[in-house]
Amino acid sequence: FSIDLPTLAGGKGCFQFDTGGKRYLDASGGAAVSCLGHGHTMVADAIKAQVDKVAYGHSGFFNSEPAEALAERLVAQAPDGLSRALFVGSGSEAVEAAIKLARQYFIEIGEPERHHIIARRQSYHGNTLGALSVSGNEPRRLPYSSYLFDVEHIAPYYPLRQQLPGESLTAYDQRAAGELEEAVLRLGPGNVTAFIAETVCGATLGAQPASAGYFRRIRKICDTYGILLILDEVMCGMGRTGTMYACEADDVVPDIVTCAKGLGGGFQPIGAVLANDKIVHALAMGSGQLRHGHTYMAHPVACAAALAVQEAIKAGDLLSNVRLQGQRLKEALATAFAARPALRPHLGEVRGRGLLVAVELVAEASTLSPFDPALGVAEKIRRTAQNMGLICYPSAGTIDGRRGDHVLLAPPYIATAAEIELAVELTCRAVETVVSQVSSTTARQKRAKARPT
Ligand code: PLP
Repeated sequence: FSIDLPTLAGGKGCFQFDTGGKRYLDASGGAAVSCLGHGHTMVADAIKAQVDKVAYGHSGFFNSEPAEALAERLVAQAPDGLSRALFVGSGSEAVEAAIKLARQYFIEIGEPERHHIIARRQSYHGNTLGALSVSGNEPRRLPYSSYLFDVEHIAPYYPLRQQLPGESLTAYDQRAAGELEEAVLRLGPGNVTAFIAETVCGATLGAQPASAGYFRRIRKICDTYGILLILDEVMCGMGRTGTMYACEADDVVPDIVTCAKGLGGGFQPIGAVLANDKIVHALAMGSGQLRHGHTYMAHPVACAAALAVQEAIKAGDLLSNVRLQGQRLKEALATAFAARPALRPHLGEVRGRGLLVAVELVAEASTLSPFDPALGVAEKIRRTAQNMGLICYPSAGTIDGRRGDHVLLAPPYIATAAEIELAVELTCRAVETVVSQVSSTTARQKRAKARPT
């Protein structure tokens, strides 16, 4: 399993260092994880204090003070009705727990025939088999497709490529959300448990938020057919997009929400599931507990770290900085790509919310035609950027799992204007280097093809 990568030696603020002394600007927080950056004394102290007190107790035997305090904090900040929290070890585990919770809810209320989940294409909900089943990320699903359970996938929210000529955004919102109703009717409304979606699509589609009407219509459809709405905020939640829960900006309240990355900020592995009163009540009146568990659920040290992370976000009013620097990042990327002659022809779109921003790259801006997947543009950008001292998160397959490339940036919430400027400059340089390489390759191939044999 070894891959030729530098060895991480340390980190401070928005920067990381390898054992050779090279410095990297962490402009993607790894995979949108490190919300406080690296080397935070208060979080480190909270971890040490909890280890000194007691590191582990099984959640089947004990509650722990940090888990209780963290649950209280998350629930207090959550949209109305989300009243209980459950802690697990990762985003995938949070999604597994969420989809099981949805199924158990319907068993408890006497509707066991409900068993289908509806999700979206071009989504990512995790790599464990349940989470991967609901994911619409084709390359990650492919090797394991025979292990995955059947899930109905509807279209993603993706106006750049799916809004029809002459169609207003409002009409597009309604049409895209309407696919959920069509899927429910196809499966039989009494057979569906839940619809799961990332509130702001992260890695697969590249920082794609929905506009105002989309989730409102989705919520209405779920209510009409008695389906639970699960919003996966593993990447976009916990302040990453400028509000503690991303759905606050969409004016929609899910029945279940998952979070992870920014919850522990990478200081400890932790994920969470929050559920509303209706679900909590059904379980309390029924079997009395969730029939799901892991050994390290609600790990006291992870909960203590996450509590300290959440306190630091609040104490530093970091969400104001997320909104400010997020706007700056989006504008600076759009300006730089439009101004630089080598980049302008390759700008598909800059999109995102808060400090979750992506640039979709194209072979030709006028037609939005993607690069040939064989050129491996995204992977080349990842490597080139890292050589230049930039950690960013490029992905391929933006459009349909095969075609399309984007670069995702998700800097720590503490990022300064100067660090945002540096992130934009290094991203531009990395993309310029790669597009110039692939343009020469493409030109060479064209010449070879044109040559008489
Ligand atoms: N859900 C979303 C939206 C994600 O972005 C991810 C990871 O990128 C996951 C779930 C899975 O989280 P993890 O990698 O912590 O298992």
